[in-house]
Amino acid sequence: MDLVIEDLYVQYGSSVMAVQGASLVVRDGELVALIGQNGAGKSTLMKAVMGWVSPHAGSIAIGGTSVRDRAFSHLDRGVAFVPEDRGIFSSLTVGENLRLGAVRRRDKKAVAEDIERELERFPVLRRYWGRGASLLSGGEQQQLAIARAMMLNPRLLLLDEPTLGLAPIIVDLIFDVIEQLRAEGVTILLVEQNAVRSIEVADRTYVVQAPGRIIGSGTAAELGASAAVVDYLGFEPTDLGRAAS
Ligand code: ATP
Repeated sequence: MDLVIEDLYVQYGSSVMAVQGASLVVRDGELVALIGQNGAGKSTLMKAVMGWVSPHAGSIAIGGTSVRDRAFSHLDRGVAFVPEDRGIFSSLTVGENLRLGAVRRRDKKAVAEDIERELERFPVLRRYWGRGASLLSGGEQQQLAIARAMMLNPRLLLLDEPTLGLAPIIVDLIFDVIEQLRAEGVTILLVEQNAVRSIEVADRTYVVQAPGRIIGSGTAAELGASAAVVDYLGFEPTDLGRAAS
């Protein structure tokens, strides 16, 4: 399902311009990354897509409908968001968190099958099914957060820094899962600080620089052709394996 953001401005209070004139498109079935340093405005842009913050100007449409339309429902449209703090319920068990992800669904048999699908994807969640979510490690919590989002069978999945602070082996696992979800046809917008890995897995990448300006976008080769992007990233995206293949 297409996500189209046009000339977006988001301001906090009277002085902090967090997003300034950002335009971004994620086409149906694409995996698009948004990379940039701390405070660049990445999370704010995602929150605006979710309607958690109100833009000052510009537009955001999902599947051709503005998210500000009174009738627009992210849940009904199949838009799932995994926020940076993961948003899981720490007082509930792993199983309860997964079931909550499907709370609005009436197709009980399909829900059971989807839980099984996620337990196959994330074996650690099967092992800790009855354990309190607060007892999970950060990497396990991130897997639970993604699995719970997948219980919505989303058509558009927004992931905000899913590998932040995780051990390298878990970072590899999360990136593998992201590629797997894309192969399953989920449209994905991935916000990351891990520029190299993001550019490697994404169909296209947007580079955002504080305060909230997109300074370049495209494939690794296209990013590598922009002096401003190379200067900001500190490396040549064209050197990446994917670009060479
Ligand atoms: P990070 O990688 O650190 O999460 P980010 O690229 O996601 O950073 P944002 O969290 O979107 O960046 O922040 C963009 C700017 O807006 C920053 O200058 C930040 O300090 C500011 N900001 C974010 N949230 C608020 C808020 N609730 N009130 C005021 N300023 C905010």
